[in-house]
Amino acid sequence: MTGNDINLEMGLSLPIMEHFYTIQGEGRYTGTAAYFIRIGGCDVGCHWCDVKESWNANIHPIKKIDDIVKTAISFSKTIVLTGGEPLMWNLVPLTQKLKESGCNIHIETSGAYSINGQIDWICLSPKKTSLPKEDVYASAHELKVIVYNQHDFKFAEEQALKINKNALLYLQPEWSNREKMTPKIIDYVMKNPQWHISLQTHKYLNIP
Ligand code: SF4
Repeated sequence: MTGNDINLEMGLSLPIMEHFYTIQGEGRYTGTAAYFIRIGGCDVGCHWCDVKESWNANIHPIKKIDDIVKTAISFSKTIVLTGGEPLMWNLVPLTQKLKESGCNIHIETSGAYSINGQIDWICLSPKKTSLPKEDVYASAHELKVIVYNQHDFKFAEEQALKINKNALLYLQPEWSNREKMTPKIIDYVMKNPQWHISLQTHKYLNIP
């Protein structure tokens, strides 16, 4: 095992695809300024994934969490951990350092791996190819189902039955199919008002 491997296992370094200050575009915190940390690596394999370049963790630079935290907190105290699938990694040291700096930590996850680290807001976006772990259903704050086709409404209802009762429920059109699916989501939410619409507003605003 190399030094890099040991640091990755201990969560002292992580493969970072990109990190940037922007506006959260989706879900409950839409419109909120936040620092995004996109961690490489995902084995869930969604065919419509818009960040396929994240899948192979080996092509992303291994960065020390101390350096990431220092940069992140110079921009914002609201941090969004995303990927890829960020829960593939040991997030304990990263989230501990962010908490010590007074940050609110959000995560965007498929739930395919159990929660680790200190997370303040869990956005669960379940995927059919790798269903969420029970602990993620139990602790998620929002359920965000991506609607690519008609069957996804059925999937959304199945997932809503599994998630804890306090979670907010969102349906979000998959970007490449948004013209077809957005009107169907509007209709669905009006008939089923426990659901809300989430749009990828950052893409409409042309920001990362
Ligand atoms: S879980 Fe996310 S990053 Fe992974 S393949 Fe699906 S959409 Fe892409």
